[in-house]
Amino acid sequence: MKPTREYIIERFSYFNKLCFAGRLTMPRIELSRSRRKLGQLEYKRRRKTFGGWENYDFTLRLSTLIDMEQSVVEDTLIHEMIHLYILSNNLEDSSSHGQLFRRMMEEINSRYGRHISISHRRSEQENEADEELREHIVCVSTFKDSRLCVTVSTKTALFSLWREMERLDCIREHKWYYTIDPYFNRYPRSRTLKFYKVDDPEALRKALETAGVLVKKGNQIMIE
Ligand SMILES: [Zn+2]
Repeated sequence: MKPTREYIIERFSYFNKLCFAGRLTMPRIELSRSRRKLGQLEYKRRRKTFGGWENYDFTLRLSTLIDMEQSVVEDTLIHEMIHLYILSNNLEDSSSHGQLFRRMMEEINSRYGRHISISHRRSEQENEADEELREHIVCVSTFKDSRLCVTVSTKTALFSLWREMERLDCIREHKWYYTIDPYFNRYPRSRTLKFYKVDDPEALRKALETAGVLVKKGNQIMIE
């Protein structure tokens, strides 16, 4: 489903009563076409007359770019509502998704059987919808136990990840590629060694058909 404003307003009131004892004030509700952020809470900050700061003028946005399951829309909304609760009450947290945020999130999850998360994991459906062409530096590694994994490196981490990859005893073979295939949009870019298990080797093989193979010659890495 793609949420409408009316739908979000109705759900906001419902979850406000259910999970926040009705203590939240309805922010401005807007729809966005954001690819990166499914939900977003914008606000302003001002100094209070007698010291300290306060947050005000909240706008909550949900993206309608991607067709999501209703439960995902709701979880995204509640995630932003937790931010709203913390910020509008001027509560201190250790970071933007700090200890307080996590505690509230975990409590709502367990009490109401929700699946709110910190970083919204993109579902298969959304991955397929993301067709934007972006550059990727990809390492495909085969482990000694035959597991096939993908690592997408940031540009700056390529040399160090390449070196680390060579040193790993558990890897039988690894190969680096340069590609713009949207298949790889689903993987986060890593600065440290992270392996994502490939469930569909055939889809990976297809995605790599147009990729350039990277080779290391001395201090340079280039497309073969
Ligand atoms: Zn958040």
